[in-house]
Amino acid sequence: MYPFTYIKAKTNKEAITAIGSNSNAKFIGGGTNLIDLMKMNIEMPQQLIDITSLDLKKIETLPNGNIKIGALVRNSDLAYDETIMQKFPMLSKALLAGASPQLRNMATTAGNILQRTRCSYFYDTAMPCNKREPGSGCSAIKGYNRMHAILGTSDKCIATHPSDMCVAMAALDAIIHIESANGERTINFLDFHLVPGDTPEKENVLQPGELITAVEIPALPFASNSTYIKVRDRHSYEFALTSAAVALEINDGIIQNARIALGGVGTKPWRCKEAEQSLINKKATADNFSAAADIALKDVKTFQYNAFKPKLAKQTIISALQTIGGNNG
Ligand SMILES: Cc1cc2nc3c(=O)[nH]c(=O)nc-3n(C[C@H](O)[C@H](O)[C@H](O)COP(=O)(O)OP(=O)(O)OC[C@H]3O[C@@H](n4cnc5c(N)ncnc54)[C@H](O)[C@@H]3O)c2cc1C
Ligand code: SF4
Repeated sequence: MYPFTYIKAKTNKEAITAIGSNSNAKFIGGGTNLIDLMKMNIEMPQQLIDITSLDLKKIETLPNGNIKIGALVRNSDLAYDETIMQKFPMLSKALLAGASPQLRNMATTAGNILQRTRCSYFYDTAMPCNKREPGSGCSAIKGYNRMHAILGTSDKCIATHPSDMCVAMAALDAIIHIESANGERTINFLDFHLVPGDTPEKENVLQPGELITAVEIPALPFASNSTYIKVRDRHSYEFALTSAAVALEINDGIIQNARIALGGVGTKPWRCKEAEQSLINKKATADNFSAAADIALKDVKTFQYNAFKPKLAKQTIISALQTIGGNNG
């Protein structure tokens, strides 16, 4: 590791001023991703701005029924929050499917959103990687790409977005709150992460000097009937091969509303709006769930070692929908 300086900000203003005065500084939340990247010289900030003392640790219900989650709420606290468990079980389950209890006790909401890919070539500085070193090439496209994406890939990068929490937030149409020297703004969660295209090093639309302060989850009564299913090589401490966050509103056996988002398959948390639409006014049957899964996965592109993913992803979607919709035939 290399030398760097460290300061602890006491207010949002202090944190924003500090990052504005040093273009090589980074905020540090739980540090569970950033410190690993620094140890491997993949990220080399000259200054760390510790934001863990900021007043961003509350989970509040707003007058309009939306839930506002402070950027520093730890993943464990969010997962076990009574309101989240009752109103948005998919979010609680997604959080609990991620990492390990120790990591979840440290990881923050904003840090989870900004965590970087787990592509093994990204972490191996001896190998070319366009995301780490733009223009150097992608070792995964013709390499060992079993964990890699099948949706949203480009000829520059096929890495998955690794977060479980973000899959649920994509399904729930979350809104990200941001503060900077220029004031406050919000970004729809679905517009926050970027597909790699020609610039895989650019992973999201956060600008230099911006601090994520909160994530807002819009009220969605039918999200109380939701779940998250994650398929992985080990039951704990492992990233998704495929995952699905789903919610259904069903009246008299007929689907009124649906939400579907996928993890482990996309270069960003992957929302499937066309598949959701295909379920409206249909019966909650295995056949209809299967047809919706086909729509969700119609644009997949597989690589040498991940050709199993479309089938696995399809079963994951069907299984998640059956869990909350029942199997009616
Ligand atoms: C062994 C291991 C297994 C894991 N398994 C999983 C898994 O199965 N599923 C999963 O989803 N995750 C998994 N993770 C990832 C883990 O969830 C992330 O490391 C964690 O969520 C990051 O949060 P943090 O607060 O520690 O972020 P940090 O490491 O502190 O920060 C990450 C990035 O966010 C930036 N940042 C932090 N807060 C803010 C803010 N408020 N505003 C602007 N920028 C900010 C930092 O500058 C940094 O660039 C795993 C991690 C490890 C080490
Ligand atoms: S998939 Fe992306 S992160 Fe992995 S080696 Fe290729 S460019 Fe790098």
